[in-house]
Amino acid sequence: MKFDVVILGAGPAGLAAARAAGRRSASVALVDDNVTAGGQIWRGAPRIAVPAGVRFFPQTRVFDLRPGFTLLTESHGAMEASRLILATGARELFLPFPGWTAPGVFGAGGLQALVKSGLPVAGKRVMVAGSGPLLLAVAAALRTAGARVVGIAEQAPLGRIVPFLAKYPAKLPQAFALRARLVGVPYWTGTWPVRFAEGMVTLSGGRTVSVDYLACGFGLVPNTEAAQLLGCRLDDGFVAVDSRQETSVAGVYCAGEPTGIGGLDKALEDGERAGAAATGQAVNPSRGAFVRDLAAAFHLDPRLFDLAEPSTVVCRCEDVSCAALRPYREWREAKLMTRCGMGPCQGRICGPITNCLLGWSAESVRRPLVPVAAEILLKDVFEP
Ligand SMILES: Cc1cc2nc3c(=O)[nH]c(=O)nc-3n(C[C@H](O)[C@H](O)[C@H](O)COP(=O)(O)OP(=O)(O)OC[C@H]3O[C@@H](n4cnc5c(N)ncnc54)[C@H](O)[C@@H]3O)c2cc1C
Repeated sequence: MKFDVVILGAGPAGLAAARAAGRRSASVALVDDNVTAGGQIWRGAPRIAVPAGVRFFPQTRVFDLRPGFTLLTESHGAMEASRLILATGARELFLPFPGWTAPGVFGAGGLQALVKSGLPVAGKRVMVAGSGPLLLAVAAALRTAGARVVGIAEQAPLGRIVPFLAKYPAKLPQAFALRARLVGVPYWTGTWPVRFAEGMVTLSGGRTVSVDYLACGFGLVPNTEAAQLLGCRLDDGFVAVDSRQETSVAGVYCAGEPTGIGGLDKALEDGERAGAAATGQAVNPSRGAFVRDLAAAFHLDPRLFDLAEPSTVVCRCEDVSCAALRPYREWREAKLMTRCGMGPCQGRICGPITNCLLGWSAESVRRPLVPVAAEILLKDVFEP
């Protein structure tokens, strides 16, 4: 299958790119591993439509990308493109503390996604903890679903959050609207969970709270692996793009969270620019500083990196503890000796954790991008 433009990721950035590219090109494909378009924020929302004329491939996992812009998928084989737009979004950052792998502890966005998919939380006592604006969105969504939100523990101090909001007054209505849905729910700033055991969360400062679920996320990590496979340059962990969203590889564009964590508005603006640029249309300039200011406001307190005890699991796929990693100097050595990062998530969870706790970084990304049936890999090898 051949297209002028293939867009990987049908979140807000990918949808905006599809809309912009579809204005100029008749041959645009949008690929996503979910059942419907919408990405994280619009997951399961009923009225998210794919732009007319754009061919949508749902439930299509891309497990490899090759130079010359060929995407390999499980369900539709190879897809070729003249231009490629990567809009692969972000995932949550987890930080280990005693009990973080116990039943009842979820990712904050993860629990929200489960609720959107039907997990009942009515009447459940839930604490939301970690960092960033996502905590308020998750808490509000959980409350709407009937959960008893017993508190929100935000690690950033109020003294950093207030000036950030004051600098971006356009964001205030959204923040106030979320807060209005959370009347009566305490918002503890400069506070984080230090332990979870048998339904009891202990917070920094000593407060203990009984919960059914603890929903925890310490910000977002960009999904840069697809761009890395194509050799796109990273800058401080994000895909480097120019003012037209083009990466260091000509013809490959990137939009949304992989180029900087900035939420919905940035994702939409990036996507519009990438779709326009990839099809030769005029491009609006980027507005820039928000991503940097957001990161500074919710910068993680280094004390969060000392919560894990020697027995605390760091790599949950391969069951590797904090103590087992300490003797090693870097990621590759630890992988070879302990299997840390070699399970099904391929280091997507423990990689960023070891970066925070031990200063390690993964030098390379391996194929396939996601676990894929051996039968499909063999087909790729023997019938390329
Ligand atoms: C778990 C989670 C929940 C969130 N919930 C909210 C919220 O409620 N409110 C809010 O304001 N912000 C939320 N965010 C922040 C959110 O990331 C942004 O606001 C916005 O959705 C970013 O849009 P995007 O298009 O860049 O990425 P995304 O919306 O993440 O879209 C990326 C898409 O690419 C797909 N994809 C990635 N790799 C592949 C592959 N190899 N093959 C096929 N498909 C692929 C993903 O499945 C996803 O659908 C959430 C983030 C996370 C991680």
